Amino acid sequence: MVKTADVVIIGGGVIGVSIAYFLARRGFGRIVVLEQETIGAGSTGRSVASIDLFSHHPAAVTLQARAYEIFSQFEEIFGAECGLITTGLAVLAGPEQAAALNQAAKLAEAAGITCQLLSPDEFARLEPAAVVDDLAVAYYAPRGGYADPMLTTNAVVAAARRAGVVIEQGCKVTHLRHAGGRVTGVDTPAGAVAAPVVVSAAGPWSKHLLKLFGLGDLGLYACEHPVISIQRPADFGPPHLSILDLPNQTYARPETGHLTLAGSMDRSVGYEAIEPENFHGQVTAAYTFWVAERLVQRYPALEAGQLRQGWSGLMTISPDWQPVLGALPTVAGLYCATGFSGQGFKISPAVGDLMAGLIAGETEATQLLVPFRPSRFAEGQSLATSEFGALG
Ligand SMILES: Cc1cc2nc3c(=O)[nH]c(=O)nc-3n(C[C@H](O)[C@H](O)[C@H](O)COP(=O)(O)OP(=O)(O)OC[C@H]3O[C@@H](n4cnc5c(N)ncnc54)[C@H](O)[C@@H]3O)c2cc1C
Repeated sequence: MVKTADVVIIGGGVIGVSIAYFLARRGFGRIVVLEQETIGAGSTGRSVASIDLFSHHPAAVTLQARAYEIFSQFEEIFGAECGLITTGLAVLAGPEQAAALNQAAKLAEAAGITCQLLSPDEFARLEPAAVVDDLAVAYYAPRGGYADPMLTTNAVVAAARRAGVVIEQGCKVTHLRHAGGRVTGVDTPAGAVAAPVVVSAAGPWSKHLLKLFGLGDLGLYACEHPVISIQRPADFGPPHLSILDLPNQTYARPETGHLTLAGSMDRSVGYEAIEPENFHGQVTAAYTFWVAERLVQRYPALEAGQLRQGWSGLMTISPDWQPVLGALPTVAGLYCATGFSGQGFKISPAVGDLMAGLIAGETEATQLLVPFRPSRFAEGQSLATSEFGALG
């Protein structure tokens, strides 16, 4: 077990290891990742891993666009593949959400995301299996898709190790050391690690960790989010697009093996707060019915589909459903990257790069992360939420 480091990162999910990799690439010194279980054991290994190029918030769209650039060159950068599959993304809006969707399309274009707005008839030609009667407009981003969360994370881990990062698994951080208002390291059952910089990337455990550090909980909470899986009938035709269905408050994306993965975007369904130690990983019949019924309304041919084994995973929700990224105000040298509210995978490479840039004192990274600063809640500067449900 290492005794000293230049940076300790708490958490070996996709976010922690991405920050570690990008710090090492900047030559930031000895970087150590401490993971209480195994790599990807938290939210990451249970992610749907959709890469939806869409948000109502300009700062979030910028992160998505930067992340997508990295995903699209992933193998060149990390030396292994992330399993990126381009399905095309459609965001479907009824009359009530049409104005907000138009606005989001302008933001996406400004961030360099290829997208277009389609009339219901145009969308029906693109996606013949979908019902379009209730739609006013659809946003279409042809490069949207998904990747494999564990392939991605393991590739980042391997690249980080090649760059000199030390990753300790089965190593839980139990205490933060600080003196004179500065962080000095962390304690673990295997011993202390002295470091002038500590990054908390602890996912659903962030609330407990920050409280343990005496920093309050920033209003974060963990929730258990279930995902259903349906095998499409043989006569369904080609896979459907990845969709964010605003009228029905559901999302869906195709998966290999003729499967469709789907879940709720309604914040009151499938986002119930839970303590991580009470996590059970199940999907209830009531939730399955809620999602499947709405999915069949959009794609009637799925009524003949077969339900397959779903799963659930822990997410970390912030008060405004946007990430919490940056320096923690009370202890110098202490940072956090958390609160991704179900959107962390798709922005993970950009978060890794920008958090590393922030820690290294780079101006551009620091400016891009200002909207996500942890102090925004105490300052009454929470990011505005939208009518896009769990999309923030
Ligand atoms: C069901 C589900 C579907 C999702 N779908 C999508 C999607 O389609 N698109 C998308 O972009 N995002 C999605 N997400 C969200 C995305 O997966 C997360 O935002 C992302 O994985 C967060 O990564 P992380 O590294 O912050 O957290 P985690 O992967 O949870 O990693 C945190 C790690 O910290 C460790 N840890 C905690 N406390 C300590 C401690 N004291 N000491 C040491 N280690 C500690 C944990 O063991 C854990 O491994 C989904 C999430 C879930 C659960």
